[in-house]
Amino acid sequence: MENEKTSMDRRSFLKGAFATGAVATAAVTGVGTLAGCAAQPKEGKAGTSASDGKAAGGTYDFETAPDPIAEGDIKETVDADVVVIGAGFSGLCCALAAAENGANVVMLERMDHVIGRGGSIYAMNSKLTKEKGYECSVEEVAQRYKRMMGYHSYRVDGRKWMLHFNRSGEAMDWLIDRMTTASSVGGDDLTPVMEHWYEDPENINGEFPGTHEFLDGPNGKGPDDNPQQDVCANMALYCEKAGVDIRYETDAQQLVKDGDKVVGVVAKGKDGYVRFNGKKGVVIATGDFGQDKDMLEKFIPWAAHQTEFGGIWNGSGHKMAYWAGAAVDKSETPAPMIFCFQWRSITRQVRAFQGLMVNEDGRRYDNEDNVISHGGLALMHQKGNHAFAIWDDDYANEPGWQNHRYVDGPKVFDTPDDVRAYWQTVVDGPGTINMNGSGDIPVKMIKADTVEELVEKLGLPKDETLKTIEAYNGYCDAGVDEEFGKRKELLLPIKKGPFYGIECTPWFLSTTGGIRCNEDLQAMNADDEVIDGLYCLGSTVGDMYTNCYSTHFPGHNLGGTCLTFGYVTGRKLAGAE
Ligand SMILES: Cc1cc2nc3c(=O)[nH]c(=O)nc-3n(C[C@H](O)[C@H](O)[C@H](O)COP(=O)(O)OP(=O)(O)OC[C@H]3O[C@@H](n4cnc5c(N)ncnc54)[C@H](O)[C@@H]3O)c2cc1C
Repeated sequence: MENEKTSMDRRSFLKGAFATGAVATAAVTGVGTLAGCAAQPKEGKAGTSASDGKAAGGTYDFETAPDPIAEGDIKETVDADVVVIGAGFSGLCCALAAAENGANVVMLERMDHVIGRGGSIYAMNSKLTKEKGYECSVEEVAQRYKRMMGYHSYRVDGRKWMLHFNRSGEAMDWLIDRMTTASSVGGDDLTPVMEHWYEDPENINGEFPGTHEFLDGPNGKGPDDNPQQDVCANMALYCEKAGVDIRYETDAQQLVKDGDKVVGVVAKGKDGYVRFNGKKGVVIATGDFGQDKDMLEKFIPWAAHQTEFGGIWNGSGHKMAYWAGAAVDKSETPAPMIFCFQWRSITRQVRAFQGLMVNEDGRRYDNEDNVISHGGLALMHQKGNHAFAIWDDDYANEPGWQNHRYVDGPKVFDTPDDVRAYWQTVVDGPGTINMNGSGDIPVKMIKADTVEELVEKLGLPKDETLKTIEAYNGYCDAGVDEEFGKRKELLLPIKKGPFYGIECTPWFLSTTGGIRCNEDLQAMNADDEVIDGLYCLGSTVGDMYTNCYSTHFPGHNLGGTCLTFGYVTGRKLAGAE
């Protein structure tokens, strides 16, 4: 890695001038809204106040490129083959794959450490899935492809989905090899396990096998942990060993263009501005934009107003890409990742609760036989954006519901009494759980001796709710759900006390998408022309989902846009393929 004090003359600076406001206007056109005609922001829950980021011209502030950082303020220039912005899982995968294949890589991270979230990583045909007997034939891959395209109304990029499906096994094997021997670089050796999935015998709305997790590290001892933190910590150590120059506390702010080509980025480090040149590419791996209320208002207003404000990052990479001419997803709708985590406090699974759910009127509103992402959306559409799960003591005896987390992996509970003891800890707990370091979620589990008392404590209308429970018990006895036709094996009555209930709310984890790109992960403008030198990965990758992120393949953000796309892009940038 060559480090040198900047000696850019005026001419070369202008040649490499930052994207201008004119380019930003092109990006706005790409989002399908003419500049100056964007929808007015509304009052809502997106942050403490309604969006106030609109400039006089009627566009949001983020749509206009800032003035270029003055040349004289840039203290240093660093030359590399590849500059990766963001040391999340996608950036780490790309940086490591590039460095291992001989590229000179610098990775910029605004924090002073790496963070991983969650731990479910989807891949097909890895050595682990094959070992467990879940090898996928070409026909099965095609079936999954069609299912995924259908969920997203075919308004997504089929070539990127096939890249994920065809290369994720190889990428996962690469990751497994490193995670199982990470003590060689000073990290923790981790154990890969395969998550169980939610099966739908009718094969209509179920999940597909292939979700991996890495357990046994300091953050991966049990189902409430955050094993991805251990994976990312190990990856950072591998990157260092492979020679990646990781610059912590370095905040990337503006891309540098030479004509139409992106050639570098200016970032603010501890000692001021530094220009990083990426001869072969600049990779945006900066995560989501869920913390930027203007971007949410513009791109996903229905989620900005209907969920508690979640999200992780502020879309700094998206903005830099727009200022450099990139367009948003072709479908114009980056998708939110919305789950319901109170369900997790009932079963400790990453899945929907398939017992009785009622809305605040005490009525059922859905066939509860659903995946967690779509189940979360269904309750979000109820009055008050919430609903209530109700169950009884006998649910603890259902091994399929309570002990289904890992294929051949550690059990979550050994006995039904362990399940009851777990519920009791939630009932007695502080009323919140911390979700993988991303915020406190209200979890107020109610326990009562009678159904009447439970309904009252949940604050539900007594007559209507008791009528619903009685009818539901009747469906369970008869084995026929007359309202929604839920599968017989999921019809468990609510008869044996103590009785339990919990208010369920949608939880907005992050956004996915936002930068239009091709199957080589090259950013594109509104005319689908490649912006030379600019790549995007992870949660920034556009046209993977429309409407909402779906968990029919649990963990395909980490497995697809981060691992597979990061691995393949790193190799390509290094010339390995
Ligand atoms: C609680 C929770 C659990 C989740 N669990 C899962 C799961 O199990 N499976 C799954 O697939 N997904 C999960 N997700 C979504 C998950 O966040 C993403 O899949 C994953 O983290 C995306 O990785 P990424 O590399 O795109 O971005 P991130 O992991 O968000 O990393 C982005 C990095 O870029 C850095 N950065 C941002 N801007 C700049 C800048 N301007 N300059 C320098 N650095 C910058 C950030 O500091 C950060 O380190 C979860 C999300 C949450 C909130």
